[in-house]
Amino acid sequence: MANSVMATPAASVAPANPYVTAQRQFDQAASLLELDPGMRAVLRQVRREFTVNFPVRMDDGSIHVFTGYRVQHNLTRGPAKGGIRYHPQVSLDEVKALSMWMTWKCAVTNLPYGGAKGGVICDPSQLSQRELENLTRRFASEISLLIGPESDIPAPDVNTNQQTMAWIMDTISMEKGYSVPATVTGKPLSIGGSQGRPAATGRGVLVVTLGACRRLGWNPSECSVAIQGFGNVGSVSAELLDAEGFKVVAVSDVFGGIYNKDGFDVPALLQHQAKHGRVAGFAGAKEEISNSALLELPVTILVPAALENQFSMENAARVQAKLIVEAANGPTTPEADDIFHQRGIVVVPDILANAGGVTVSYFEWVQDLQSFFWEEEEINSRLTRIMERAYQQIDDLAQEHHTTLRMGAYCLAVKRVADATAVRGIYP
Ligand code: GLU
Repeated sequence: MANSVMATPAASVAPANPYVTAQRQFDQAASLLELDPGMRAVLRQVRREFTVNFPVRMDDGSIHVFTGYRVQHNLTRGPAKGGIRYHPQVSLDEVKALSMWMTWKCAVTNLPYGGAKGGVICDPSQLSQRELENLTRRFASEISLLIGPESDIPAPDVNTNQQTMAWIMDTISMEKGYSVPATVTGKPLSIGGSQGRPAATGRGVLVVTLGACRRLGWNPSECSVAIQGFGNVGSVSAELLDAEGFKVVAVSDVFGGIYNKDGFDVPALLQHQAKHGRVAGFAGAKEEISNSALLELPVTILVPAALENQFSMENAARVQAKLIVEAANGPTTPEADDIFHQRGIVVVPDILANAGGVTVSYFEWVQDLQSFFWEEEEINSRLTRIMERAYQQIDDLAQEHHTTLRMGAYCLAVKRVADATAVRGIYP
């Protein structure tokens, strides 16, 4: 289940640099928490950034050199954790931002991890399966200096999946001479993957959406939902939200979107997508729409589940939804955040909304380390408990500081990491 990639929306200004966005969000939280300048300086930078340029033999016999990154923002509370994405628009600043968001995501949910992220600049739709395997294995070998169960644990992200993780696990294991399942999470079940991991991010989206609805006094059956992105996260979110009674009225993928104000038959839509590789052409659609138009539909809830920078000052004033649940990382720029706040639109921030994935990654890692595996029921109930508790805590903090849920989440996360940093002290 590869995640879909979204086309960059037409915009008259250059898209925001995600690392600048991440640092601005951090600065705002640091001010609310009155962090001292030394602590601010430590936490607003990434700890390690690693760039690799590596050769891959292509099917036609030629050699192509790819560029990839692995960035560790923080390792204070445990090993670094975070996915690896394959996309033509991957950049060092994007990976740095994503690694910082991983630190806060793991701290919000209180997982004993720091944050990392990886990426390779490539267009996987243009690569054969063999080229993808060659690229993955060589990239894994290049970053083997950093990754491992005790240091840094990758997982799937945009355009990577269980198969990608299996290749990484195998490469690292072959180099060691024995199997090291806990090197990566999001693996197939047959090599130490966890029950419930493929659906975990979508399940977390469901838990926080239900939490927000409870707070707002909404009944799911009265809520229409538009979902941007129909990869692993978007499609599972659609399935679970539909099963819970929400009316899914619009979805999109990299090829475009579909809309039916009366709602879709989601199981039939999932079958259509599995067969055709896209949502367009689904018989239950009344209208075909663009990705940017989807964000401006008259719906109750919007779930961005694709890439960064979907909401900016260009379109934030035209958003009609009352609740935004950030299944993607970094979909909202700080300017759009301010506009949403002024307009009373509630945003469940990415570092909580999509934390279901890394939470079950943590369960997978724990199971691998113990070579003892849990039932899916146990996974799902522990996941729900963690997400509900985190939601409650960030909501309380947001109210205490008279601020947004994003800043509530940042206050919780940044304080946890700052406290851990302070008590460990500075080496040497
Ligand atoms: N790539 C996912 C994320 O952005 C999952 C990371 C993980 O499981 O380590 O949260």
